[in-house]
Amino acid sequence: MASNFKPIEHARIRWQAGTPVAPEFADSYFSRGQGPAESQAVFLQGNHLPERFAALPEQGLFVIGETGFGTGLNMLQAARLFSETAPKSARLHLVSVEKYPLTKADLATALNQWPQLKRWSQPLLEQYPPATPGFHRIRLSERIDLTLMLGEAESMWRQHPGGMDAWFLDGFAPDRNPDLWNSDVFKQLAEKSRPGATLASFTVAGPVRRGLQAAGFTLQRKPGFGRKRHRLEGVWPGQATTQICRRGTALVAGAGLAGATTARALAERGWQVTVIDRLGIAAGASGNRAGVVYTTPSAHATAQNRYYQSSYLHALRVLHQHKIESLGIGRLNGVIQHLSDTHLQKKLSLAIDSGYWPESVLKRLDHTRVELSGGGYLQPGSWCRHLLDHPSIEVRNNKVLDWAEHGLKLTGDEVLQADHVVVCVSGHARAFTGLDWLPLKMIRGQVSYCVATDRSANWSQAECHRGYLTPAIDDQHCIGATFNLHEHDPQANPADDRANLNQLKQNLPERWHQLGGDAIEVTGQRVGFRCQSSDYLPLAGAMVDADGQEHAGRWLNLAHGSRGITGTPLCADWIADRISGLPISVDREMQQALAPKRFIERRQRRRKQRKSVSPGH
Ligand code: SAM
Repeated sequence: MASNFKPIEHARIRWQAGTPVAPEFADSYFSRGQGPAESQAVFLQGNHLPERFAALPEQGLFVIGETGFGTGLNMLQAARLFSETAPKSARLHLVSVEKYPLTKADLATALNQWPQLKRWSQPLLEQYPPATPGFHRIRLSERIDLTLMLGEAESMWRQHPGGMDAWFLDGFAPDRNPDLWNSDVFKQLAEKSRPGATLASFTVAGPVRRGLQAAGFTLQRKPGFGRKRHRLEGVWPGQATTQICRRGTALVAGAGLAGATTARALAERGWQVTVIDRLGIAAGASGNRAGVVYTTPSAHATAQNRYYQSSYLHALRVLHQHKIESLGIGRLNGVIQHLSDTHLQKKLSLAIDSGYWPESVLKRLDHTRVELSGGGYLQPGSWCRHLLDHPSIEVRNNKVLDWAEHGLKLTGDEVLQADHVVVCVSGHARAFTGLDWLPLKMIRGQVSYCVATDRSANWSQAECHRGYLTPAIDDQHCIGATFNLHEHDPQANPADDRANLNQLKQNLPERWHQLGGDAIEVTGQRVGFRCQSSDYLPLAGAMVDADGQEHAGRWLNLAHGSRGITGTPLCADWIADRISGLPISVDREMQQALAPKRFIERRQRRRKQRKSVSPGH
């Protein structure tokens, strides 16, 4: 188990006249009745944010880090100030860490007392993550994002790439909360600071000052707020410069889930995007009538399992933001997972007992069923079309042949040029120069459609067993799916329909009966090829050739296997952030687990090991 990501426990709060208090630390989250004024004086003024926000240039980027998210008051106040004072094209990114997050109910109690912050506290409440460790990206407004890292401060900051312009140091009183105020944490703050970064804190305690000075900050005591005599201001050495959000033109090859989410993520960050697909939108594996929004829980916090969890939670936030239910694209009303064999029963029991899957995410219904409460089902094609319907996205029907210098080569000798190119064409990527080494498999899957019956028409939840079954969409259920590595025929075949129905009969006999049993009428089928990498994780990040060489401006977002709906939003946001020079909301371990170059590095390591053990060397 990766020790950096431990199960998360909620804070135990006692309320004293509207002020949350943490009995375990014998301290309150802010001064009683004076939270907003104190936060303004100590953290916003202490970092000179009013002047700095107002002075940002067009497309300027400002990044604030915090130790101790608590109620989010400081961060929300910063969001409000930024919205009121920064140029409209500038962006704010907030990064905060919290080991003991408030429950959503406590958070709502705290935030509801500040109606002036509602514009930002509402989205925070809507997207507030369940108690699961790691990075959670929350969109507070079109130009303000928050990365909330749940876990121990030092280990979470170690996972973050940094780039802070200002810090809010807001733990409980240092003598009662030493984990947050020690040299290891201060070292992280130093490493993650940009030149000229500032810090502010309510405390001037001797050990804190000495520790921050030893880490390299220059400090000043200032008159404190309210009854406190002093507060602290500090600065990291160097000449401050302004970060700028990069914008320009981008090409995205492929208009399936990976391409559509990538194009949308780029367009939302100000890029002009052209998406090219020879068969149009969602014509490949992303084009099934329905897909299930789900994940596979595990008791072990490996980077791979954490990716399955965080990409799922991220996808749910994105699907809610896009209001897919009101658009009629799908429903997020829970997925029933049938524990069809003892292996699955054991795996899910261990996951639930591990503490990594809070009840709000994964609920035991009985000994043969669990529910993924936030999951659901959607129509992937409509989702892709919705994502691509953006004023900065153009979709073209063309076959992409290869890279071109600064762009892509299409059929008919056409070349499109752009600042960045993202290849999202699943296994077809191997036809691109420098990518024939990609360890990808194409796995054929056939889904069968059948007509809803009187007894099935009102089913509301998607159900997974070894296969899956969706509620009726336009009177048709989806029964999926076969899994065949060795067959490459794009034509549907009746044997696979039979296999889908047999699997349903075996695992969900009652459902099979309600659909008509032996008389089930298959009205259609669809064959798709899932693209899967040799370690089952997608390839998301900078393109790398067989020699390990990265090529500026070239990116990959591939191999989402059967998890395209849940995996693609996280990978798309990550790639779009990197291209745009924005802070990244994927932790370091997970980045390494997704980066295409991991395969090359593994190969190089294996070669080295072989050399070092082979005789004669
Ligand atoms: N900034 C907060 C606000 O605006 O409401 C108030 C923060 S409160 C004074 C301190 C916070 O630090 C608490 O939420 C506490 O759970 C968190 N904390 C304490 N020790 C921590 C640790 N070792 N790692 C991460 N967070 C920690």
